[in-house]
Amino acid sequence: MAMIETEIKPTSQKIGFVHLGCPKNLVDTEHMLGLLNQAGHRIVGDDSEADVMLVNTCSFIDQSQQESVRHLVHLAEAGKKIIVTGCLAQKYQDELLNLIPEAMAVVGTGDMGNIVDVLDRVNRGERVISITQDPDYILEDDSKRLNITVGSYVYLKIAEGCDYRCSFCIIPSMRGDFRSRGFESIVEDAKRYTEKGVPEIILVGQDTTSYGKESGKNLAQLLRALNEIDGIGRIRFLYAYPNLVTDELLDTIAECDKVVKYLDCPLQHMHPEVLRRMRRPVMDHVAFAERVRSHVPNVKIRTGLIVGFPGETEEHFEFLMETVQQARFDRLGVFEYSDVEGAHSKGLDGKVAKAEIKRRRNEVMALQQGIALAQNKLLLGQTLEVLVDTADPDKNTFIGRTEWDAPEIDNLVYGKGAVIPGEIVPVFIRDVTPYDLKGEAVLA
Ligand code: SF4
Repeated sequence: MAMIETEIKPTSQKIGFVHLGCPKNLVDTEHMLGLLNQAGHRIVGDDSEADVMLVNTCSFIDQSQQESVRHLVHLAEAGKKIIVTGCLAQKYQDELLNLIPEAMAVVGTGDMGNIVDVLDRVNRGERVISITQDPDYILEDDSKRLNITVGSYVYLKIAEGCDYRCSFCIIPSMRGDFRSRGFESIVEDAKRYTEKGVPEIILVGQDTTSYGKESGKNLAQLLRALNEIDGIGRIRFLYAYPNLVTDELLDTIAECDKVVKYLDCPLQHMHPEVLRRMRRPVMDHVAFAERVRSHVPNVKIRTGLIVGFPGETEEHFEFLMETVQQARFDRLGVFEYSDVEGAHSKGLDGKVAKAEIKRRRNEVMALQQGIALAQNKLLLGQTLEVLVDTADPDKNTFIGRTEWDAPEIDNLVYGKGAVIPGEIVPVFIRDVTPYDLKGEAVLA
């Protein structure tokens, strides 16, 4: 964990934190902790020591909202003063303040830059609501961020908000319309992390492929600029929007040696009628996968699907299964549809029973498991470059990832050998499962 050195002031508070949600939210958590730390407050890992708990919530789907509320209730029962930030705060500010007397402040998605001021006001006894209705804030300066992620990769947020209006998603109503971070500030931050020895830079945003649309720049140009940074190990971007995956972008992935040959592109469904109801682009996904593979040799494609969307018939589902079978996505996650308050899809007819949704998810996952195992078997006997995330020198073991694997969602490589976290080492693959590889470091 990288800590920012600061002088501890007499008014300093001990701040505990709970981080919920995706990597984009993690960047926000780290940013707020960095601001608080620089203002002289101390960030503590043990909640029992904390004077105030910062809870950065997620509201993406029902389960994330429930998980956020569970954490809040647990901390309230422990008698902690709480500052609630993020999506749930943006959406339910009044309800949270009414329900949880220990919640001293709610801070919306566009107000995280005010966190130090909010804490000062809480300390003066105020109950604070800091919510901008149409958030337009974007973090431009990453240098004050306090990284709580492991040292082998860092997420860099390159854009905020989203201009699409997928019918199941309320992110635009919580995060605002799309806006990009400045080109140079991203490159500078990537340089800074590279100089600190972080080998993998992961670009995130609700929609990374719209990057730069306000300024005439684009993601391909950004990737090329990052690829020029001396010493950078790997560059990855997540969350591509399907019809913005241009030939220029694919050729850039193919041509830039530091950009991983990996495309994360959530497609959500395969059937045109369901996609229309989702307000998503209708396209031929088998042809899409072929186009990606023809531009980027040796690429691996990750996608995400939602099953049980309102109106999804057995025929739609069978179509989805056939397409998955034909496109043979290398990595695939499946969400079970659930209504989210405020989402357009909540009002759609043709709701699918929960048990049926579960059955459909299990079927896709079983199909994908076979595809994933077959793909991994092709790697047996190969020597792959693996970035070491963690190592246990006593046991001479390590855990790492190939370039085709993003942290926390994709395959892991379980290896043997004396290696150091952050190193990229050749690993001979001896054994595979659908979701993991096992091997030995080939050390000189
Ligand atoms: S692209 Fe769709 S799913 Fe993704 S954040 Fe925007 S509205 Fe939500």
